[in-house]
Amino acid sequence: MGDIADEIMEKLKGGVGSVFHCPIEIKTGFSDLTQAYDPERKQYYSSKLLASLKKLERDERVVGIADVDLYVPRLNFVFGEADVISGTAIISLCRLREEYYGLAPDEALFLERATKEIVHELGHTFGLRHCPNNKCVMHFSNSLADTDLKEAHFCDKCRPKIIL
Ligand SMILES: [Zn+2]
Ligand SMILES: [Zn+2]
Repeated sequence: MGDIADEIMEKLKGGVGSVFHCPIEIKTGFSDLTQAYDPERKQYYSSKLLASLKKLERDERVVGIADVDLYVPRLNFVFGEADVISGTAIISLCRLREEYYGLAPDEALFLERATKEIVHELGHTFGLRHCPNNKCVMHFSNSLADTDLKEAHFCDKCRPKIIL
């Protein structure tokens, strides 16, 4: 959604593919983010963007990748959001970069975080809830420290619960 370098998308495709082992297609052309912009918050309303994503097939899932800061009412920001019913999800890359916090860029870390966020939101679209295991990708990330602590894959309790 919006402008994201092909190189980043290809690397994320690789990361997510290594967890799900399924065909992944990168689609572009969803560029109108302005409809979801809140000028007072200077952020984009996550649920509004999410609602504009459509999946085509029953077994398909769609994840919107946005490089803008996302929010939902009552929260300062969200890393991502999923709609279990429609099988769609959205994540923001914005707060996953070290630069956002005034630190030196670390592309590997950034890609790892983004992969975890995508896998996490996809997990919700497959019927999974948050997991108490802090190493599991379905563990809730309150902060990036939580994201960095967990791994990109599902724990032994979550994986069998995936509903296609
Ligand atoms: Zn979650
Ligand atoms: Zn788990």
